[in-house]
Amino acid sequence: MNDSIKVRPARNAELPTLAKLIANQLPDMMAGRKRPDNIEQHLARLIPDQSLILATRGNRLAGLTAVDLDHLQVLACYLDPETASPDTPRQLFKAAEKLALSFGARRLSCTIKKQVSGFMSSMGYVMTGDGVGDDSAGRMEKDLLAKARPELKQLLELLDELGIPEDYGIKHRMHLMPEASTLVPIGRDIFDRDQRMTPAAATAWSRMQSAANSRGVELQLVSAFRGVSYQANLFRRKLADGQSLDKILSVSAAPGYSEHHSGRAIDITTPGKKPLEEDFADSKAYQWLKANAGIYGFKESYPQGNRHRIKWEPWHWCYHHRPGA
Ligand SMILES: [Zn+2]
Repeated sequence: MNDSIKVRPARNAELPTLAKLIANQLPDMMAGRKRPDNIEQHLARLIPDQSLILATRGNRLAGLTAVDLDHLQVLACYLDPETASPDTPRQLFKAAEKLALSFGARRLSCTIKKQVSGFMSSMGYVMTGDGVGDDSAGRMEKDLLAKARPELKQLLELLDELGIPEDYGIKHRMHLMPEASTLVPIGRDIFDRDQRMTPAAATAWSRMQSAANSRGVELQLVSAFRGVSYQANLFRRKLADGQSLDKILSVSAAPGYSEHHSGRAIDITTPGKKPLEEDFADSKAYQWLKANAGIYGFKESYPQGNRHRIKWEPWHWCYHHRPGA
């Protein structure tokens, strides 16, 4: 018997049950919103961003919270009084805040029922004074940076210095990427620079490259690990050259958000193709990667029409730990 409360993102298959529970008037800590008619559809939109967060005890629902990332707002925090523990709302809010922070968001707000204002204050939320036209409700907001790690504050200061819009991560649904702590050499790239990846990604890359080779497909390395300061200097150089920030952001991820920081991303080319151009998609190498990269744990991060609103990057692949691998 496991009696402890677990907090995790909801899955698609759970939506009909969740919608039914909400429709049956599970108590909500939030105020100022009508429950939508088509609850299931509303919830479904939150799944890709993992912004529908559940607290469960065994196989029972103890509570759930829904975060509107575009408006940095907690929309709902439902609790099942019979299953939730006194700590469940805190756990749910912590998870919502962690999610917002992972995109580089700096605050989170909510419209609460007045009777929970004491709890919300204890969580670091303050009344904003924006009227909601209802005495029983109030708007509260939390400064997520107040207790953030110094490295995170430093990174956000760097983004401000470069003029990166505050909503960059939210808008593109791109997470801040911690820099890899352990890197190993993976040889030289096509420009004769030494490149590095994390040990697991390096092994996977080497296996994938050999496998392609044995099929007569040559995968060449353009770039792998790049640190935050490297990316920041790239931006500074381009800005100094007179390029507009919009133009720079259309081809380079903002410092802190590049998958290359993780040591798991790699830019690939093949003989006869110019590196980092969409034309790579017309190569045998790209076709081979589409069919086989998954076997080695690599995924195309920004395919055509991706939900990050990042231009197609057929050359950019990222290693993801496979479950059980
Ligand atoms: Zn890349």
